[in-house]
Amino acid sequence: MSEVLNDTTTTKKNSGHGNLAFWILGAIIAALIVGFVFPHFAKKLALGGEIFLNLLKMIVVPLVITSVMSGIIGLGDVRKLGKPGAAAIGYYLITTLLAVIVGIIVVNVIQPGAGMAGSPEVLNATAEGGPVPKSADGPQTVGELLRNLTTLLFTDNLLKSAIEVQLLPLIIFSIIFAAILTMHGTKSETLTRLINQANDALMDFVLLLMKIAPLGIFCLVAARFGEANAEGQLMTELQSVGKYMAAVLTGLSIHGFVTLPLILWFFTRRNPYRFIGQMSKALETAFSTASSSATLPVTIESAIDEAGVSPKSVKFVTPLGATINMDGTALYEAVAAIFIAQAFGIHLDLTQQIIVAITATLAAIGAAGIPEAGLITMLIVLKAVNLPNEGMALIISVDWLLDRFRTTINVLGDAMGAAVVEKALPPEAESEVAF
Ligand code: ASP
Repeated sequence: MSEVLNDTTTTKKNSGHGNLAFWILGAIIAALIVGFVFPHFAKKLALGGEIFLNLLKMIVVPLVITSVMSGIIGLGDVRKLGKPGAAAIGYYLITTLLAVIVGIIVVNVIQPGAGMAGSPEVLNATAEGGPVPKSADGPQTVGELLRNLTTLLFTDNLLKSAIEVQLLPLIIFSIIFAAILTMHGTKSETLTRLINQANDALMDFVLLLMKIAPLGIFCLVAARFGEANAEGQLMTELQSVGKYMAAVLTGLSIHGFVTLPLILWFFTRRNPYRFIGQMSKALETAFSTASSSATLPVTIESAIDEAGVSPKSVKFVTPLGATINMDGTALYEAVAAIFIAQAFGIHLDLTQQIIVAITATLAAIGAAGIPEAGLITMLIVLKAVNLPNEGMALIISVDWLLDRFRTTINVLGDAMGAAVVEKALPPEAESEVAF
């Protein structure tokens, strides 16, 4: 890792690393086959998947703290944070809104819920209430969401936040702490070096973990697909909400292959599809874990080592992005809410669709980077336009699957954000080679 920092502008391939993405892809494909053909055997692989996932999650908290601190220390002077900070927030907001707009257009064109009113699925959902998450699981209104977010930003107990893997307060603390260190200059040199060295060691830890990634990911994916298929319901479920899934996947594809690439190209002149290839390990991990937070170590590693984005930008933009920048989630929430309205035969006018767009953006910001967090915060979107919570019953059975695709787009958005914000770094910080 340290030798990587010697060159922040050109792409650096670790030996054998380029192949790793192919191995992981192979593992995912093999896992899908095993999951479908031998579902009962595949289910038994869950332990292997859990071990790999835990190993990834284990480093998230120390990695976020040392990465953010190291990124700020690298800037040298916290006053230089203004422009990249504003660029990052602007990027997060604009891309999330664009994702929502794409989602709303797609769901209105495809109309996946049209003609479903009165169908057995909808009647069942209304009669049984369906497996709807309890309101106690998450905020129900925009007001509650904003209050939650504020409390999440400023914790009264840093250790508790670390234990609960609440990354936002840890990021806020790390920014302030590192800012103070930069003002200390040589007085805090030992601490500064310690943080950078700890960060480097943790990145090597990630590299080590990546060596077992194909195996871990194979177990993770096979076990989940095996579980879904063992109940023999996967195909029936996929068929009953096939059009809805097609709408979400179309929207995510447009965002991932058109909107985000255009933004990346416009601001950085990088080849976006090459960039996607360089980020493939992280994208595959996102698909396999359905968690932006668990993927964060790989996102940081791939963005720096494979895509050659400045470590300063990556260390600052991706941890924050994994927590608040969720384009895929926002798009999905908008599509799902409007699909539910269509299925229940409820017409949403333009104003209501704009309300869906705004609340979906906020709900995605509020969603944690963990599996199916978006499903919970979607209650806010439903509530904002008075849609029945029971509608969740229509989409819940395939959420674990769609979650994987939207998490992949979330992670792509974070990585591209780092590349875009890199352009807003102070020139001397950008050209500085090691810190
Ligand atoms: N699983 C998503 C993520 O970690 C969040 C969600 O949409 O549920 O990015």
